[in-house]
Amino acid sequence: MSNQNPGRCPDCEGELSVVDGGQPWCTACEWNLTVYDPQVLPPRGWLWLERWGHGVATRLDNRLFTENHRSPAERSHWTAARVLLVAISTVLVLTALGCLIVGGMLMLRDFPSIWVVPGLGLILLGIVLRPRFGRGPRKRHRLRREQAPVFFALLDEVASAAGAPVPDSVVLASEFNASMARYGLRGHHSLSIGIPLWLVLTPQMRVALVAHEVGHLVNGDPSRGLLVEPALSTFRRFAEATGAERTLGYVFDADRGGNRGIGQLLFELVLWVISRVFLLIHIGLSALGLREHQRAEIRADAVAAHVAGSEALTALLDRSALSDVITTAIGHAAETKPPLRWSELADRLHQGRTAEMTQYRQLTQRGTSLWSSHPPLGLRSSLVESWPQEEPTVALTASQWTQIDEELRPWYTAAHRAVLGARDYRPDSEATIR
Ligand SMILES: [Zn+2]
Ligand SMILES: [Zn+2]
Repeated sequence: MSNQNPGRCPDCEGELSVVDGGQPWCTACEWNLTVYDPQVLPPRGWLWLERWGHGVATRLDNRLFTENHRSPAERSHWTAARVLLVAISTVLVLTALGCLIVGGMLMLRDFPSIWVVPGLGLILLGIVLRPRFGRGPRKRHRLRREQAPVFFALLDEVASAAGAPVPDSVVLASEFNASMARYGLRGHHSLSIGIPLWLVLTPQMRVALVAHEVGHLVNGDPSRGLLVEPALSTFRRFAEATGAERTLGYVFDADRGGNRGIGQLLFELVLWVISRVFLLIHIGLSALGLREHQRAEIRADAVAAHVAGSEALTALLDRSALSDVITTAIGHAAETKPPLRWSELADRLHQGRTAEMTQYRQLTQRGTSLWSSHPPLGLRSSLVESWPQEEPTVALTASQWTQIDEELRPWYTAAHRAVLGARDYRPDSEATIR
């Protein structure tokens, strides 16, 4: 948030907020809050599409907020979007199966004969169209129970309080993020905890983080199910295979590829059109799928509020909204402060911005997009605050947290090295005394 004075709100005379020369908005009455601001949400492809998507997303966010205000909505199993995604997936799977069967029959017809050619073609098409189930993390990347018994005890306790199964594998990642992924035909689950994020959280926020991810296993996440996977990934693969990254400028670039004939140019042009069609279909379907996923995020938040307490969850969401501020500060502090002190630093930064928290929450709403997997953080924290406040069900003792920190120390050190890059670590005296 920049400090330049953008003036006063025309509606309520309140102070305006603005991001680096973008469009101002009013924190007090939300005047101009929902306009599209490329400064906050730079277009990833077509500007018109991003602007349109932002407008639709803002309306859908409002609806999501209304649906979940005061109490989280029950899971609705069959929305129109889900019916469409499942229907498309079914057609794709049946087509793949049909290609394989008919291809095989053609191959065998009067074998060997000219029928081998179309037969082989159909079989290849069937292979390309087949549904993918994803692979789990490699064994050597997984955190083993004996490496971190207290951490796993926390995971067990959270899963039991949430009424969820314990994830099949755990990975400690280097992102400022956490996630739950599904893999394999039988639907195994892998929990990924980003250590850089983990390190800037208070103990109870960490419980909320794990509880949110485990919360995804309670009500099921319809957008991750096997039934919708083909619809959500096939057209992306087709767009990539036909050269989605090629722009028209690239196709017409005369300096490229020496002497291309008119035939080759036409071929590339047709391919360009085909890839755009696939891309548009994919963009449309993923917008539907991601909105389904957003509802699952709210339900996971409801589980997290129950397990870790509403206060810790709101604090976690607000802290995530401050991630840019925090990661920048950690980047500087890493030279003198060990990872075990990063959460203190984040606490101070967070407390120093309590008065501006509404602005930071509004900023996340301003950055909303039809292609976000998560509802804006500000919308989520406001929803959690509107629900009946819950006390924590799971809370660890200080000595248990010390044990967890000890178990995860090698990953903390690795995260520290990654932040430092080529710089040296020179601990200040305060840090060495501890
Ligand atoms: Zn105003
Ligand atoms: Zn989530």
